[in-house]
Amino acid sequence: MSSISAPRGVRDILPDESWKWEHVLDVTARTAKDFGYREIHLPVFEHTELFSRGVGETTDVVEKEMYTFEDRAGRSLTLRPELSASMVRSYLENRMDKLHQPVKLWSAGPMFRYERPQKGRYRQFWQIDFEAMGSQDPYVDVETIALSLEIFKRLGLSRLEVVVNSVGCPVCRPVHREALQDFLRPRLNDLCETCQTRFDRNPLRILDCKNPACREITDGAPDTISCLCDECSSHFSEVRKGLDTIGAAVSIDKRLVRGLDYYTKTAYEVLSGDLGAQNAVCGGGRYDNLAESIGGPHTPGVGFAAGVERIVLTMEQQGCSFGRQPLLDAFVVCSEEGIRDEAFKLLYELRSAGIAADIDYSGRSFKAQFKFAGGSGASFACVVGPEEVSSGSVTVKDLQSGEQRQVARGDVASAIMTSGHKNG
Ligand code: AMP
Repeated sequence: MSSISAPRGVRDILPDESWKWEHVLDVTARTAKDFGYREIHLPVFEHTELFSRGVGETTDVVEKEMYTFEDRAGRSLTLRPELSASMVRSYLENRMDKLHQPVKLWSAGPMFRYERPQKGRYRQFWQIDFEAMGSQDPYVDVETIALSLEIFKRLGLSRLEVVVNSVGCPVCRPVHREALQDFLRPRLNDLCETCQTRFDRNPLRILDCKNPACREITDGAPDTISCLCDECSSHFSEVRKGLDTIGAAVSIDKRLVRGLDYYTKTAYEVLSGDLGAQNAVCGGGRYDNLAESIGGPHTPGVGFAAGVERIVLTMEQQGCSFGRQPLLDAFVVCSEEGIRDEAFKLLYELRSAGIAADIDYSGRSFKAQFKFAGGSGASFACVVGPEEVSSGSVTVKDLQSGEQRQVARGDVASAIMTSGHKNG
């Protein structure tokens, strides 16, 4: 019988990588705080309706990519494919409209989409997600964009392209939709199959089709910006002004429409050429009608989500620092079985003093314990042998320089703490 492997499209984040994630999540949490966002933990599954109504029936995510199942009571549940709908659901359910607006929340965790796996695209992947709900102010849009850029800057990322667009609202979108359909109708048969099916259901998405033939056809097509109503148009000007004010280098991409239906007005993406085909690191925008589409009162909102796997991949490509890998400070080496308890006592004293320490559990020889200590990345080996026990001391060996000295038993922790070689 062959052993069971992980399902297609999901991966284990092994310790050699997970410390990098920890760094990304730490920087995210600190930046969130600096921008006045508070963390929220949301359920991994929700009622299917939340996504079908919130994200939109005609989106790829809802049509083809959801992990939907019935629970034992026959309810239809779905593993969350994204977080904005859950955030808004939680805002409404917990009456956050009573709080000071906007309510600014962030979260991190796994999302699930049944997509064709490839580099940077998985069926379970992590997102960091930020949402500001309860304000129409265009400067809140600016703040979310600035916040994502600040996280990337603090992580040391460079060569990122930031593209923005305005996709309008229910007033101006139908005007654009009609203009676009009129423009495309004569060449409908030349569009790719997917675009042909989108023509009636979701023609806006035809603008972001990557097929060269479709791109050529849509080259002169009416864009959303040229059809914006006065309100959307002035909102977009304010967003651009705000981005200028804070010196954010962004360009306008009139083809940017994003894959989820709920976007209104501002849409934006952060792209990295270092990622290959799946080049979006982050995507977001305004979704003023999402709350209503899931049965709540009108609640404007704006936010973004960035993929943690793609952030880590880009950082690796660009040689960014992840800080120091957390390694052991000390490895306790015990020379004789009979004094193992003394070694254990030292081990636990070190640990309670906040020193990352470990010991051998495999009956290795004295020499092999040293070798293992060296390989573990520990800065020091602390040797407990019969001589040390009788003299009340420990031999502390600096594993990098090879220097060693006798340290009184009670001083080992402070000697390591003040050595300048503490790892953690
Ligand atoms: P979206 O909600 O599709 O705009 O996605 C936001 C961000 O999540 C993207 O910019 C990616 O960084 C990341 N992302 C989306 N789908 C996947 C996936 N299947 N695998 C890995 N990362 C993803």
